[in-house]
Amino acid sequence: MKIAAIVTDIEGTTSGIGFVHDVLFPYALKHVAGFVREHQEERDVMRVLLRISEKTGIPLHDIEGMIRQLQQWIRDDEKITELKTLQGMIWEKGYKQGLFQAHIYDDVPEQLQRWQQEERNLYVFSSGSVKAQQLFFRYSIFGDMRLLFSGYYDTTIGPKREANSYRKIAEAIALKPQSILFLSDSREELDAAAEAGLRTTWVIRPQDTSLDPERVRLKSPHPVVTSFEQIHPD
Ligand SMILES: [Mg+2]
Repeated sequence: MKIAAIVTDIEGTTSGIGFVHDVLFPYALKHVAGFVREHQEERDVMRVLLRISEKTGIPLHDIEGMIRQLQQWIRDDEKITELKTLQGMIWEKGYKQGLFQAHIYDDVPEQLQRWQQEERNLYVFSSGSVKAQQLFFRYSIFGDMRLLFSGYYDTTIGPKREANSYRKIAEAIALKPQSILFLSDSREELDAAAEAGLRTTWVIRPQDTSLDPERVRLKSPHPVVTSFEQIHPD
């Protein structure tokens, strides 16, 4: 069956893990206190603070307590929706000021363009919020890449390691799972996607992992590549 859509992970797949961990997370950690103090009266921020208050029991007026909780979540890399939303707002300021650009591996833009020309729809599935994903591809080292993608999914559709999330994505893009190819650097995510019937390819970036692609290839049920150039859908 022809591959009609390709769904890709970001971290460790299209992009180096280093950018997120060494640039984005420390930036959010450094600026979260100032950002919350400065913007706490704004509706979008207030809505997030209200949900954090409900979730944690920290009173809404205890802004400093709220900030300490947020800082702890960032340090622990917690996948909490409210944190992801706030981080997106903080990063937006940094991207717009040109303080950093999202890392993309060299082989990625050309292949995405080729697949798009072959009339395959491209999607993102990442644990970062949809907003953070769109910022990422808008302010990339290759410029604004958003037009390459037909849609973005985050963990509001479901966890990345559960097959049901991939069934829901297939439903959302209205394609049979077997006509969708999922790209990721995570074995657990690939297993979940395969369980849902998607085709899979394991992207192993030697810059990001100590896994030896040759050894993995011997026993992996998922095809293994080290660059998007090695991916040939169909
Ligand atoms: Mg990944």
